Amino acid sequence: MLPQVLKKGDLGAWIEALGKTWKVAAPVLKETSVSDRTDAKFGWEWVVDPAEVRLDYTVTVLGPKKFLWPSRQTVLAYALAGEPNPQAVIEHEPQVLLGVHPCDITAIATLDAAFGKDVPDPHYLARRKDTAIVGLDCAAPCDESCFCLDMGSLHPESGYDIMLTPHRDRYFVEVKTDLGQQLLAGARLQPATKQDMQGRQAFTEEQRGNFHYQLPCEVKYLPEILDASYDSLVWEAIARRCFSCGSCNTVCPTCYCWDVADQIAVDLTKGCRVRRYDSCQLDPFAEVAGGENFRKDRSSRLRHRMFRKGKYILEQTGRAGCVGCGRCERACIAGISIKETFVQIAGSR
Ligand code: SF4
Ligand code: SF4
Repeated sequence: MLPQVLKKGDLGAWIEALGKTWKVAAPVLKETSVSDRTDAKFGWEWVVDPAEVRLDYTVTVLGPKKFLWPSRQTVLAYALAGEPNPQAVIEHEPQVLLGVHPCDITAIATLDAAFGKDVPDPHYLARRKDTAIVGLDCAAPCDESCFCLDMGSLHPESGYDIMLTPHRDRYFVEVKTDLGQQLLAGARLQPATKQDMQGRQAFTEEQRGNFHYQLPCEVKYLPEILDASYDSLVWEAIARRCFSCGSCNTVCPTCYCWDVADQIAVDLTKGCRVRRYDSCQLDPFAEVAGGENFRKDRSSRLRHRMFRKGKYILEQTGRAGCVGCGRCERACIAGISIKETFVQIAGSR
């Protein structure tokens, strides 16, 4: 396909055209935010008015994961009077996630691998199958918390249908899949000129100059480094600052642990089973029958999270459990940084 561009002024018309077939979610300005944190300024929402969409956003507290893996989800419904007749609840509808940064594209690919392995998760996979992803490339790191280059998530090779590369008053449009081609049916595209191609090249050079490696090793060495640090005093030292609040897990685009609870109707005729995000940083997470807790200490919970991100998920799925988005660091009231933790353990060997 010949290279094409979309003028930024034509973005709204394209979103409106998409909205006729799909539910569209995108980053918007959070005017109600009471925080001056950079990640609180923008948020992922369903698009009501295309003019609200802000593809000039930097970071968001929660990523687009919430449209695939909501924080609270009914998975089963049953009757209590007579036969229980349990029915799986699998909700999904065609949706487009528009403006997904490379780190979040990579995080979704990690969720795909995690939810698709062993016993595939029908709830996640049904939504994922009905979801189109329009990526948005980053010219520069979102802020100092980001380390996506180190975690190999700045240049995803797949996991998106279209990639938009912003340059001046237009987006360079790369179509990756047939679905991506369909999405563009209502877009006022123009063939890329020689000047546009030069702009595309200038973006790549700008990006190369703006992103720098911050970890002292490649991702593939993290499991070994973590193994060597298992008994390190580093974990205890960092955990002294941790409040075990679980915010780091809640905002993480690759975390997928959940808890289940049954909810019974007040008239006792029916019930449903709901799953909700859980956090390995909370005390009861590793509690088992008999009241035993195999990660009672805060330091063992913190170490477990770092091992999940740098070793376990990588070994289980072939994809790192961290994409370097920096959300956990921004959300942590104790200022605990996974990037600095990796740097510290690599240096303490
Ligand atoms: S957000 Fe920070 S304080 Fe809260 S559990 Fe995570 S590391 Fe600990
Ligand atoms: S562990 Fe932290 S930096 Fe890594 S993907 Fe999760 S939120 Fe982002």
